[in-house]
Amino acid sequence: MSFLEMSLKMKLADQIKGFLDPDEGRRLYEMACLAAALGPCLEIGSYCGKSALYLGQGCKDKGTILFSIDHHRGSEEQQPGEEYFDPSLFDVRSFHVDTFGHFRRTLQMADLEHNVVPIVAASAIVARCWATPLGLVFIDGGHAYETVKTDYECWARHILPGGYLLIHDIFKDPSQGGQAPYQIYQTALTSGLFDALPMTKTLGVLQRSH
Ligand code: MG
Repeated sequence: MSFLEMSLKMKLADQIKGFLDPDEGRRLYEMACLAAALGPCLEIGSYCGKSALYLGQGCKDKGTILFSIDHHRGSEEQQPGEEYFDPSLFDVRSFHVDTFGHFRRTLQMADLEHNVVPIVAASAIVARCWATPLGLVFIDGGHAYETVKTDYECWARHILPGGYLLIHDIFKDPSQGGQAPYQIYQTALTSGLFDALPMTKTLGVLQRSH
């Protein structure tokens, strides 16, 4: 992607709801480009498509696919009454949070509908029958400890040797944010399966060693 194309992509990402720093977005793009040589990429936590813009563009540029998993009902912290509830994402007909329409619109605007495969289900359900080895897994779903742990246990084993495990919202200092992603980042490191690469802000980047 040229500098101009990247600038346009970042401008578009700016209009999409979500919690992703532009530097983190750029790193996602770079990692997807690297991982594509090994296999397809997969993210958990599509939300409105901000991260899929970057990962999906990397996959598109390198001729592979991004699978993007989300039940689109919002994570624990996005339910009515919770800290990250957004009333504009609440669907009055189903009486649930519903981010799928926003996600599809993002893919359409970014011309990524042929390179991103939305999977609308809980990640643990998708994992039950998953058999495709992956070049990259990005964990950015619910932030409760059990949720992050389940996502790690379901998906880390599908990463090919040399492939990448990315985890968002790593806060080493508890006063800055929830600790579950950081705890799972540590779990991955102590498993002996992964080496730490430099982080970008709160984006943890690990490489599967064998
Ligand atoms: Mg996040």
